[in-house]
Amino acid sequence: MTASARLLIVGPQGSGKGTQGVRVAEAYGIPVVSTGDIFRANIKGGTDLGRQVTEIMDRGDLVPDELTGEIVRDRLSQDDAADGFLLDGYPRNAAQVGHLDEFLAARGEALDAVIFLDVPRAESIARISVRAQEQGRSDDTEEAIAKRLDIYENETAPILAVYGERGIVDTIDGVGSLDEIFTRITAALSARGLVATV
Ligand code: AMP
Repeated sequence: MTASARLLIVGPQGSGKGTQGVRVAEAYGIPVVSTGDIFRANIKGGTDLGRQVTEIMDRGDLVPDELTGEIVRDRLSQDDAADGFLLDGYPRNAAQVGHLDEFLAARGEALDAVIFLDVPRAESIARISVRAQEQGRSDDTEEAIAKRLDIYENETAPILAVYGERGIVDTIDGVGSLDEIFTRITAALSARGLVATV
């Protein structure tokens, strides 16, 4: 059976959205499209794009909307994203919401649901600190973390109001075990008629 779920997962750094995003995408048989992962893979691979974004990412700033939009449009145009996808980390501000809307509308598509992983600021900071020690990500320095959290609060969190007006936001309590949170997400999606296929 082919899944058709066009999903976005939103949450502060350290909310666990990357981990839950992978599980949800697997359950729905759709690819995860994570802009952060795409950028990191390009940095690792030493590509032109990687060179363009390294410094920006290390500072905790956003990569320019134009460039990010182009990467996402390319990725969503691949065959495996034709019937659905889970976006993680894009859109991240109002301009990117507009770009995505335009791109999807031209294909006669729209997002089906936005999963908002709600985690208190203190908890997300604690989780990022643990990740910084475990993974040693180059943008997990104290300064870059603070900047990313600020950008999240000032630019990314407001997009939830935009999607909220469309009635597509599911606010999920992001505190609990991985299994508990996953079950909350799939229950909310099922209630919208989006049923996991795997
Ligand atoms: P993430 O893994 O989602 O936390 O992203 C890591 C970094 O990649 C961010 O701090 C930005 O520098 C860059 N990035 C990821 N997604 C976007 C986006 N939608 N717009 C601009 N920059 C992004």
